[in-house]
Amino acid sequence: MQISFEVYPPRKEEDTPKLREAIFRLTELDPKFISVTFGAGGSSTRDSLSVLKFIRDNSTASPLAHLTCVGTTEADAKELVSEFLGEGISDFLALRGDLPEGKTHMPPGTLSRADQLVKLIGEARADRQGITAVAAFPNGHPESGKDRSDIAALLAKQEAGASFAITQLFFFAEDYLNFLSLARSRGVTMDLTPGIMPIVSPNRLSRVLELTGERKPAELAQRLGQAEDAASRREVGISWAASLVRELADAGTEAVHLYAFNEYANVTEVLRRAGVV
Ligand code: FAD
Repeated sequence: MQISFEVYPPRKEEDTPKLREAIFRLTELDPKFISVTFGAGGSSTRDSLSVLKFIRDNSTASPLAHLTCVGTTEADAKELVSEFLGEGISDFLALRGDLPEGKTHMPPGTLSRADQLVKLIGEARADRQGITAVAAFPNGHPESGKDRSDIAALLAKQEAGASFAITQLFFFAEDYLNFLSLARSRGVTMDLTPGIMPIVSPNRLSRVLELTGERKPAELAQRLGQAEDAASRREVGISWAASLVRELADAGTEAVHLYAFNEYANVTEVLRRAGVV
């Protein structure tokens, strides 16, 4: 099974050594790529680029740069992509980004959909090799209604030149497998790589539900709540994520992407228990 990881630029300078150690240890698992978030948590372009360059210079995994475009002009988005290309980063995860709180539309003349960024990246990269990943949402994007406009969005990203998609986290294998069938039935042909997050505390669960708009998984929440100490909570989170990876592998899934939270031990244990590494 192909594996990959997501990390984020450290919020404090003193957290950098921990992330670098994680990148070395994750590299030992032979991931195809390590992706680095953008803008999320207040990080700047410089912070993301510095982590991407560290991966480029110290890992066999390809660095994959998340980029968001919401509210930027086409000229600014082009300049941003060129800056990354100039640093030798040519693989991207093209995202819209979240709308500013209270806004439903962005000013005219600015980008408002990820497929616009996919197209810009393709044009800027020209003849150079590179991949453009995009986001997908097994349980629907929070703004998409019953007709699942996020699948129309996914098709638009595919038509704009996306190579494959990475999914939002989800808690049950059937969420992903049902989504895969739905997406295929509507014409999505690109690979849809499941994104898996080991949730090792009730606080982390609350935070990710708030950020993603996913529905609370009652059983996981209950087990995390009843666990007596940090070690037991870690055990609950790791065993949940490992079972999820195992079920996906048994159903024929060929790749998984793990949200690593800038450390290696939890995701390594998830993959080990799932029999993937
Ligand atoms: P889009 O694909 O543009 O879709 C957004 C919504 O717009 C869709 O649900 C749909 O309702 C509508 N829409 C768009 N196009 C169409 C269309 N053609 N037809 C109909 N409706 C359409 N955020 C960050 O800020 N930084 C990160 O690093 C980051 N990394 C992420 C990584 C992953 C794997 C995922 C899943 C999300 C990540 N996000 C990140 C969050 C992401 O930016 C938000 O979820 C955002 O709200 C949606 O982004 P998108 O690229 O899916 O947007």
